[in-house]
Amino acid sequence: MVNHVKNVVIVGGGTAGWITASLLKRILKNHIQITLIESDEIGTVGVGEASIPPMVNFNHALGIGEQEFIKKTKATYKLGIEFEGWGDPSNNYMHAFGELGKSFPFCDFSHIWLRAHKLGLSEAISEFSLNTQAAKSSKFAHLKTIPNTQLTGLTYAYHFDAGLYAQLLSEHSQAQGVKRVEGKVVKVNSCHMSGNITSVELHSGHQHNADFFIDCSGLKGLLIEQTLNVGFEDWAHWLPCDSAWAVPCEHSAQEILPYTKSMAQTAGWQWQIPLQHRVGNGYVFSSKFIDEQTAKNNLLEQLPAKPISEPKLIKFKTGMRRKQWHQNVFAIGLSSGFLEPLESTSIHLIQTAALRLIKHFPYEGISQAAVDAANAEFEQEMVQVRDFIILHYKLTQRTDTEFWRWCKRMEVPESVSKKIALFSETGSCPVKTEELFQSVAWQQVMLGQGIMPKGYHPLAEQLDEAQLKSLLESLKTLIETTVDKLPSHSVFVNKVVS
Ligand SMILES: Cc1cc2nc3c(=O)[nH]c(=O)nc-3n(C[C@H](O)[C@H](O)[C@H](O)COP(=O)(O)OP(=O)(O)OC[C@H]3O[C@@H](n4cnc5c(N)ncnc54)[C@H](O)[C@@H]3O)c2cc1C
Repeated sequence: MVNHVKNVVIVGGGTAGWITASLLKRILKNHIQITLIESDEIGTVGVGEASIPPMVNFNHALGIGEQEFIKKTKATYKLGIEFEGWGDPSNNYMHAFGELGKSFPFCDFSHIWLRAHKLGLSEAISEFSLNTQAAKSSKFAHLKTIPNTQLTGLTYAYHFDAGLYAQLLSEHSQAQGVKRVEGKVVKVNSCHMSGNITSVELHSGHQHNADFFIDCSGLKGLLIEQTLNVGFEDWAHWLPCDSAWAVPCEHSAQEILPYTKSMAQTAGWQWQIPLQHRVGNGYVFSSKFIDEQTAKNNLLEQLPAKPISEPKLIKFKTGMRRKQWHQNVFAIGLSSGFLEPLESTSIHLIQTAALRLIKHFPYEGISQAAVDAANAEFEQEMVQVRDFIILHYKLTQRTDTEFWRWCKRMEVPESVSKKIALFSETGSCPVKTEELFQSVAWQQVMLGQGIMPKGYHPLAEQLDEAQLKSLLESLKTLIETTVDKLPSHSVFVNKVVS
């Protein structure tokens, strides 16, 4: 039995390990002793450069100021993701953060836009996204609201060097008292009676005892899987990509784009993530549909500029551990499961997992109720993100390669097919308030990949045709004039770092 938790050992010093150490130390202070073990010999996965907006507040919670973060991690700002060729090969759209247009009580702007579209009054819905328009003009500034209105301004996240981020967090948390140990764990000891882990042994022979262990050891899940065998739910039948080549390259232009690019490829997709000093690139692919060498060649041929290092191959399994918390082990990061980086969600999932652990922290011993609650929250979150990623593949109209034909044909979870069916009929896309991807995100992907709903909400009829036209014109002008006044993204970043 674990009665009190006083000593915590974190195995792993990648992004997951150091985010967890930083948050735990900052919130739980000296109530617990934290030791983090990381192995220089094993290293980290070495990718993971794009984030989503909650990271901005998370950094605040860690006590890291934006300027320090931007400087030390060579970060840039991110307004959304542009998807190239996902619907059909000639189609581009953006899943931008933030809101669309102006919503009315009980009636999303998308319904107003749908009505206008059916009347032939409106162009693409992206014309009414401030984030998209700023991104396409390579503009950025901090803007909470559109001046003189109550409309949301720019909602942003970051592109950053994850290795430098882990280093920054490592320095912060060690300064606050986290103990760092370098060494390779070669043996894990458990109690035969309780099944709890009691200690980990390093190659050097040192043994580290703890009441509670956090598994941040990466894809293999040293404690949660290799020791406690919790099992893995495999989602490869919905998300068939299982490999990625990653390679950084130089910048090809002076202007640094404030958005991620996701370009559909023969058997997967390619990312482009602009940082201050380089552009991150990668080809996420399914090894069932393309061999490694061809995928590597394809990536190198499509780079916007000269590569800076040799491409690195990463193999992964898509899915989740059946439990995030089992016995006295809580898994965070790649050890708890993996969803491909299409919507830049992994680091966010590390942050929510660390927050979940704090919420249920077993100061007075482990309660099964807390374990069950945390595992249920974990599963729900993973499934919701999984569904949103599946949506992108399912809605392809591409038939040019076997990979895309397979995606188009595949059976998807009912939770996805029901959303597609409802949106196609009514233009509605209800999601739960706690979901990471709200209706506005689903709408952009579904419209962007070619679904034009048959209907719209009757409340969209509350404006007559002339009022509708005038509303759309004024919104468009407002967005255009707002974007015009913004500085260029590169100028803004330079100002922050100088
Ligand atoms: C191709 C790809 C692209 C990605 N892109 C994004 C993205 O754009 N955005 C995003 O949010 N996420 C992305 N991710 C996910 C992101 O990289 C990870 O979530 C993040 O880096 C966290 O990794 P981690 O810390 O869990 O594991 P790792 O980085 O693998 O760290 C594991 C740690 O455990 C240590 N360790 C392992 N075994 C032992 C042992 N026996 N003894 C001692 N120490 C040990 C290692 O040394 C290391 O310190 C991407 C992932 C992949 C595969």
